[in-house]
Amino acid sequence: MRYAEVSVNSPVAQRRTYSYAIPPNLSIDIGQAVWVPFGNKLLQGIVLELSDYPAVEETREIAGIIEPRPLLSLSHVLLARWISEYYLSPLFDAVALMLPPGFERKVLTFISIPSIPDDFDLSSLTPDQRHALELIQRQGKINLKHLEKTLGKKKAQTIVSQLVRQGLAVRSYEIESVKTKPKVEPYLTLVADAGEAQQELARLDKKRASKQAALLNFLVQQSRPIPLAEARQKTKCDKATVDALVQKGLVTVQRIQVKREPISYQGITPSYPLTLTAAQKSAFNSIQSSLLEMAKGQASPSVFLLHGVTGSGKTEIYLQTLAETVKLGRRGIVLVPEIALTPQTIERFASRFPHKVAVLHSKLSLGEQFDEWQRIRDGEFDVVIGPRSAIFAPQPDLGLIVIDEEHEWTYKQQDKSPRYHTRDVAIKLAELTKAVVILGSATPDVETFYHAEQGDYHLLQLPERVTPSEGSPLPQVEVVDLRDELKAGNTSLFSRSLSQSIAKAVTNREQVILFLNRRGAASFIQCRNCGFVLRCKRCEVALTYHLAEDVLVCHQCNYRIPVPQDCPQCSSRRVKFLGVGTQKLEQEAGRTFAQARLLRWDSDATRQKYSHQEILNKFRAHQADILIGTQMVTKGLDLPQVTLVGVVNADTGLNLPDFRAGERTFQLLSQVAGRAGRGPLGGQVIIQTYSPEHYAIQAAANHDYAFLYEKEIAYRRQLHNPPFTKLARLIYSHTNDALCQREAERMKRLLMDERDSKGIAALSLIGPAPAFVHRLRGRFRWQIILRGTGLSAFLSSIPIPQGWIVDIDPIGLI
Ligand code: ADP
Ligand code: ZN
Ligand code: ZN
Repeated sequence: MRYAEVSVNSPVAQRRTYSYAIPPNLSIDIGQAVWVPFGNKLLQGIVLELSDYPAVEETREIAGIIEPRPLLSLSHVLLARWISEYYLSPLFDAVALMLPPGFERKVLTFISIPSIPDDFDLSSLTPDQRHALELIQRQGKINLKHLEKTLGKKKAQTIVSQLVRQGLAVRSYEIESVKTKPKVEPYLTLVADAGEAQQELARLDKKRASKQAALLNFLVQQSRPIPLAEARQKTKCDKATVDALVQKGLVTVQRIQVKREPISYQGITPSYPLTLTAAQKSAFNSIQSSLLEMAKGQASPSVFLLHGVTGSGKTEIYLQTLAETVKLGRRGIVLVPEIALTPQTIERFASRFPHKVAVLHSKLSLGEQFDEWQRIRDGEFDVVIGPRSAIFAPQPDLGLIVIDEEHEWTYKQQDKSPRYHTRDVAIKLAELTKAVVILGSATPDVETFYHAEQGDYHLLQLPERVTPSEGSPLPQVEVVDLRDELKAGNTSLFSRSLSQSIAKAVTNREQVILFLNRRGAASFIQCRNCGFVLRCKRCEVALTYHLAEDVLVCHQCNYRIPVPQDCPQCSSRRVKFLGVGTQKLEQEAGRTFAQARLLRWDSDATRQKYSHQEILNKFRAHQADILIGTQMVTKGLDLPQVTLVGVVNADTGLNLPDFRAGERTFQLLSQVAGRAGRGPLGGQVIIQTYSPEHYAIQAAANHDYAFLYEKEIAYRRQLHNPPFTKLARLIYSHTNDALCQREAERMKRLLMDERDSKGIAALSLIGPAPAFVHRLRGRFRWQIILRGTGLSAFLSSIPIPQGWIVDIDPIGLI
């Protein structure tokens, strides 16, 4: 007898597998999807291991195979195990990341009557039972749903149970198939013979109907049906021209089924590798030699940090190293922070690798995603491009993983389990498949850069833009001290400098972006006179203002103080100044710049009326002069008519109660600044702040990553934050705040006892404290932060009840 260790799709299965016996008639592989009995149900599971001995004495048998081909590769099985152990997530949650889209579909129950024993007395059955038996026998096999429709739900279920108990009927299960609609496209076929066509051409020539003639001429030269779109594009004719020929009976339009292309290649022309600059060449050579060694099966994976400003030629390196990978018979995955906002990147891959690029995104229907998944697994694509989930694409012979804009926070899955970081998963996967990882960024995560400095990753630098002379230089950044504005009697949201520049740009018919970091905008209080912000004495983070109780709270350690009457630094009474939101900003901008057309881009605006693309198109078409937006405006947009970017208050981000606030602010400001001066008009950035001397603002203003890094890493070391330690965040939520706090306190004692009994000295606990977002969807939240090493192992031995969220390596503490 052989046995299988199965990860079962049940919430009670948690982080373990279950042992099942493999019936002799089934051939089972690792990674295979199977039906297993679990309690009194039949559930989906994935085989993770095979062995000659079961892990427990009593085992039940695997009930059946869901799909003949294994769904997970061995590397993916190992990756799923690692994710579950490291991020403390249920095993099946980790496994599910790698399953085809829509795998967790409805299960259909079928009833059949294999054979009725000769000695069975049919008259012992009730009339209802006999009726059902006949129905089933007539069909051979019947869907339970169907039976329920005929007999009524309750009755059908009762009768089926009775028949099964008597050994007459058997249940079997099938998974609902994914419906994919075939894709059809109109094609043009010439039905006229050569003679007719020539006659018509002559007639058209006389009538000077040159468009029809061109189309007809084109079709005469084709040996098979031609896509309508292609014919129209090549002959530059319109719909009326086609219709005219159709009406004359010379041409027909047929709808033909075509292969689905993940990308429309219309308008994409092939591109060829560029001659690399010296800096690019040197980076390329390092990666190339690593690719060669990996392909030979060398042991340790290579992780490269490709650090270069926007326009320094990083994407060209991705393209050329991918070509090398393909040459070696392997394939790649390229991850981008947000697929909807990176059409240019996708186009560049599509033009370099025509018809060999798969794109995964959530806009595709389930059927399309499923198709795409199958085709990826069949090895049809050189590269898969997608957001973080694309790291789990079933790309065979994986040789290269690129993470573009590696510092972006979208690479961490925060909202659901497993709370994984794509970077760490990619590095683990690369280790398993012997692939090379390239992390690319203009503003790398401080932790990534630290690893590169330590030699864990190879650091590759592209210090300059490829064409600094013709391309736009990095924009000029002006930092405005808001304290001076107040002294000069200006109480508006716009400093004198910003309002002059906006007015000038609008007059010149140029475009302006006003950026507001709304996250946390109304959460801290700041002295409007001197910019002073109250911080926690223990944690250094800004204290958060709670309107209801009128107190200031530390969201890490729960330190609380009343709001001071006047500023501890300058004694001004204008201490209680809260941030502003986009709507207020829009109102004030509307009043101040009455001639300008405004457009707001934040999550409220996109939820209500417009998609990202619509807002962007509107702005690009210059239907608005000023775009007011939050974080979204910072993403890789190319807007050549924007000559001015104003950051309304840079301090909102700086004063979030989080040790990454400085780094995050720098990243945001750098990206926002990158939006200005994309076109020949050049550009200017104005940052308004109460703390012009802050290193994050200085570094962003001077485009100086090195400066940011030096300051930031020193603080991290001093305050003992990552990368010098690891963090875990435990959040408990409940509708009752007091109960929530009590549970958090109980958990803290439990953790402390465990730590002390195990004698782990280097593990500290901070909190419990109310979470920064104290109330979310009607539930209160309290949190505990653990600081130390080996946190996953430590936590895995502790019973963590329902209601708790465990976040290993949290991206932020708020
Ligand atoms: P990044 O990804 O760092 O922003 P890109 O690879 O997009 O940089 O390069 C910026 C611009 O320079 C692009 O238009 C690209 O086509 C061009 N470019 C990149 N490398 C070269 C090269 N070696 N020679 C000429 N042009 C290049
Ligand atoms: Zn003050
Ligand atoms: Zn504190």
